Amino acid sequence: MTDLPELLKKVAEELKPLPETVDRTRDVATRLMGRLETFFGAGKVSVEGSFAKGTMLRGKEEADIFVHFEKTFPVDDACRLVVDKGVEVIRDEGGSFRLRYANHPYVEGFVDGIRVNIVPCYDAEYGKWITPVDRTPYHTRYVKTHLSPDMADEVRLLKAFLINDNLYGAEVKVKGFSGYVCELLIIRFRSFASLVMEASRWKPPVVLDEEAGITGAPLVLRDPVDPQRNTAAAVSLSALSNFIMKSKLFLKNPSTKFFLEKSSLKGLVNGRSFLGLVFELPQQPPDVLWGELSRTVGGLWRGLEQHGFKVLRGDRWADSHRGVIVFELESNILPPVMLNRGPPVWAKTAVDFVEEQFTKEGLLAYPWVSGDRLYSLLRRKHTEASETIQMLIKTGKAAISKNLKQYIINAKIYSDPLQLTADLSGEEANFFMEFVRTCPNYIAHYASSI
Ligand code: ATP
Ligand code: MG
Repeated sequence: MTDLPELLKKVAEELKPLPETVDRTRDVATRLMGRLETFFGAGKVSVEGSFAKGTMLRGKEEADIFVHFEKTFPVDDACRLVVDKGVEVIRDEGGSFRLRYANHPYVEGFVDGIRVNIVPCYDAEYGKWITPVDRTPYHTRYVKTHLSPDMADEVRLLKAFLINDNLYGAEVKVKGFSGYVCELLIIRFRSFASLVMEASRWKPPVVLDEEAGITGAPLVLRDPVDPQRNTAAAVSLSALSNFIMKSKLFLKNPSTKFFLEKSSLKGLVNGRSFLGLVFELPQQPPDVLWGELSRTVGGLWRGLEQHGFKVLRGDRWADSHRGVIVFELESNILPPVMLNRGPPVWAKTAVDFVEEQFTKEGLLAYPWVSGDRLYSLLRRKHTEASETIQMLIKTGKAAISKNLKQYIINAKIYSDPLQLTADLSGEEANFFMEFVRTCPNYIAHYASSI
């Protein structure tokens, strides 16, 4: 039997950033802050995020640097100034940079191998937030005063546990647990072990703060610095359920693999039907893009079902310039005959239905009555999934996000999973491999231990 405390201690040791990397992060942060303060003023720049809270993971060292503005300063000007000056100071420090978007533009840079984010925020009055990151300094303060160094190890365990199954991060792409949610969960349950023991018995919706009166989300965790707000609002039912299931399997058979390893289990392809779309993508803020991709998956899914295909699953993936949408169908090919269910005989439209059938080009069998309803048989116009999806896209019959339409129209369509695999590389190939495998990493690990 694995000794759980021993195992967790060992993993926590591996997750702790090395002292020299922490020093380097501090050094980079201090240098950038100094330069930014020269421009924005003393006391106007702060370090937030996991570096400030002591909950940073080894290998993911980063300094989140926030530039504070007065509440009367226009948001667009604040963003522009921070982007301009951010780029300048990163350059001056010999780093590289790229512009990023969350709710607002910010600068991401790499200086001496350390990732830095330079983000604008407002010194808003408590509760009168101007941008979503204005709560962040309050969050930092709350966590710093409620989390001991030992508990920071527990936060790291939780983050790694979630990261290994793509459940970490509040962004639309993941819809999982943010760093702050992880910190609050550890503050509440004291340790990783007691949290997963609790979680293994959860049944969604999980309302951890009844008195907050917040309903409608799978997980409700009140923000101590803004009691009206559910900090876990981004956590999807699937992310929460995966966390519950992972907690159960981890406790049944604890192993370091649940934190640190990807399974090499390959999916089974035989007897299954896939449909894939690969397309170019426009530059857009990630949350907007992933939201549009998700809506497009939903639109195509409904379109396929309306044309007789049974869609079992669907998913999406994107990087900065290419997108992939995949479906698993019960079958890629439908029989040529389709039952056409008409109205009941007592309905106003019953006679019209009978007359219409005799004018239909694809009529295969004349109308008849069964029970109280009319039926006929029609020849199906589209029997192949790839051809149907092409038609749905070209004719605008599927609800595709407007911004993506011109890109999806030019998508390359695949129904052979081997062909699709051959045309994908890197992360997108990985995404499709995981889609084919169906089971998450943790289930694959568990299966290898039974
Ligand atoms: P880690 O970097 O270890 O994943 P973190 O706590 O630093 O954890 P980040 O995602 O780096 O998390 O974000 C830094 C801080 O910025 C967070 O504490 C969070 O409060 C704030 N933040 C980041 N993105 C957003 C957002 N989209 N909305 C609101 N706040 C955000
Ligand atoms: Mg961070």
